[in-house]
Amino acid sequence: MKNCTEFEMKIMDAVYGESEISEDCKSHLATCEACQSFYESLLELPAGTREEIAVDEWVVGEAVKAAMEITEKKNAFERRLFLLASLGLTGLGFALVLNGYVQLLRNLYMGIYLGGPLVLPIIIWKRQQRGRDHA
Ligand SMILES: [Zn+2]
Repeated sequence: MKNCTEFEMKIMDAVYGESEISEDCKSHLATCEACQSFYESLLELPAGTREEIAVDEWVVGEAVKAAMEITEKKNAFERRLFLLASLGLTGLGFALVLNGYVQLLRNLYMGIYLGGPLVLPIIIWKRQQRGRDHA
């Protein structure tokens, strides 16, 4: 047995012309006062609010495409930056080992392994801040 919330969704769909009102919905409407008044309140809305707003799908599509391109460019830049940083650090590591600074390399690694996790909350916080700016 469906509850009133599920029927309300179906009623809303029917009022907005998304779907036909189903038989079980009709029989529920006949017996449930709450859903009846919900249905009537929807019908009482001014006609304009029930009409679908005309949306130019092409314009929306282009906007989405443009937004995705920006995201893609940003991601490509971040990937390149990451690759460059990785290669740089690997090169630095090799350079240190080849020049006899194994001790220094070990200390750097220990510092990164021990200190890195402490920076993580700051990175996460920064990312969340950035996300909020876009919203
Ligand atoms: Zn109901």
